[in-house]
Amino acid sequence: VSRAAREGTLLVLDFDGVICDSADEGFVSSWIAYYHLYRHENPTAIPIRQRAEYGRLRPFTRSGPDFPLVQEIIHTGVDVRDQAEFDAAASRAGVEKMRLFGELYYQARTDLLARDREFWLSINRLYPHVREAFGMIPPAAPVQILSTKKPQFIHEILAGAGIRFPASRVHHAPSHAKLPSVEALRAAGGFTRAVFIDDQIDFLRKNGNPKITAYLASWGYVDPAWLREDSGVPVMYPDALVTLVRELFLSG
Ligand SMILES: [Mg+2]
Repeated sequence: VSRAAREGTLLVLDFDGVICDSADEGFVSSWIAYYHLYRHENPTAIPIRQRAEYGRLRPFTRSGPDFPLVQEIIHTGVDVRDQAEFDAAASRAGVEKMRLFGELYYQARTDLLARDREFWLSINRLYPHVREAFGMIPPAAPVQILSTKKPQFIHEILAGAGIRFPASRVHHAPSHAKLPSVEALRAAGGFTRAVFIDDQIDFLRKNGNPKITAYLASWGYVDPAWLREDSGVPVMYPDALVTLVRELFLSG
C-alpha cells in the first residue's frame, strides 16, 4: 500500500457487533420494553432459554424496533430461522406496531441509562481487539462510525470506555441500507476508497461500488450461514482488523 493510497482510505465501522458487544444491553432494554412497557406485565423471572433464543435471533435485527420484536417472537413461539422469516414477522407486526416498539425500546434504554449509568455501561462492552485497534489509531485518522443506534448512546459508551472520539464522526444510518451512506461519507471526505465493516450481512450484500470494500465482522452477531464462502461477502477476523488498522494508519 503506497502512502498516498493509505492516506486516501476511509475506515467506516458499524457500532453494535463490531465495536461494542451490546448483546446483554439489547436483551435487557428490549425485555423491559416488551414486558413492562408494551404488555404491562411484570414477570418475576426470566427463563434462561429466553436469553439463548435472543442470541440466536440477534443477527437478524437491523435497528431498534427489531429488538422488542425479537422478544415477541420468543414470547409467542413463532418459528423464525433466517432473515426472510424475521423480515416476514416484522411485516406482519406492521408499521404502527414497529414504530411503537422503537419508541418503547429507546424509552427503556434511556430510563436504564438515567437510573443506573454504571450498570448500563457495564453491559455495553468494547471487544478487546477493537479496544486494541482504537488504541493504535491516531486522533486525526479517518475513522467514522455508521450505526442505526442513536449517536447519543454511542457517545455515552465510548466516553464510558475512556475513548475520545469526535461526535462529528458518528453517523446515524437509516435502517434499510448502509452502503449509500458509506459512499456519501467517502465522497464528502474526498477519499479514494472506503473500507466498511458491519455484522449485518444485508448491509454488505450487492456492493457494486469498486471504491468500497465491505467486510462481515466475524466476531459480531452473525448467523453461522453468513460465514460460509458462498455468502458472497468477505469475512474480517479480529487479527485482520488489527493488521488493517496498522496498515492504514501507522506509517513505517
Ligand atoms: Mg451491527
